Amino acid sequence: MLNKKVSDLLNEQINKEFYSAYLYLDMSNYFSREGLSGFANWYMIQAQEERDHAMLFYQYMQNNDCPVKLTAIAQPDKKFKKHMDVLKAGLEHEEYVTASIHAIYDAAYKVKDFRTMQFLDWFVKEQGEEETNARDLITKMELFGTDPKSLYMLNQELAARVYSAPSLVLD
Ligand code: MG
Repeated sequence: MLNKKVSDLLNEQINKEFYSAYLYLDMSNYFSREGLSGFANWYMIQAQEERDHAMLFYQYMQNNDCPVKLTAIAQPDKKFKKHMDVLKAGLEHEEYVTASIHAIYDAAYKVKDFRTMQFLDWFVKEQGEEETNARDLITKMELFGTDPKSLYMLNQELAARVYSAPSLVLD
């Protein structure tokens, strides 16, 4: 049986990951309306990955005989005035999720829950990659986003992103 604080935080993380999926779906929705289908694709795949993350936390709890409580997912309420607002909100959100994962890790560390720490190792690495991807996108947008031809090319680059299942698999 997992420590109460650790299991509460894991349970909250399920909701946070589903919220992330919802947020990215809303960003995809925004770019679809803006006519940038490549950006919409990129954020759609991002949403799929977040749903995978939620399911990994769910499965980990199930595997450890830990009761799961599914709670309401908040409405994405960010208003985007320009393309860059979305990219910056994405990075900000990933930094928030990183802090959240680190807080679970800290709680697990305090009670010597080595199993949960090992499970979370994958997410610690994943968050590093998510933040790098979000920063890279901001850099590209700063360089090319103001020129229509370059924006067109960038949109095409992002259209090429394909979904792949997470490398972490829980039975
Ligand atoms: Mg995630």
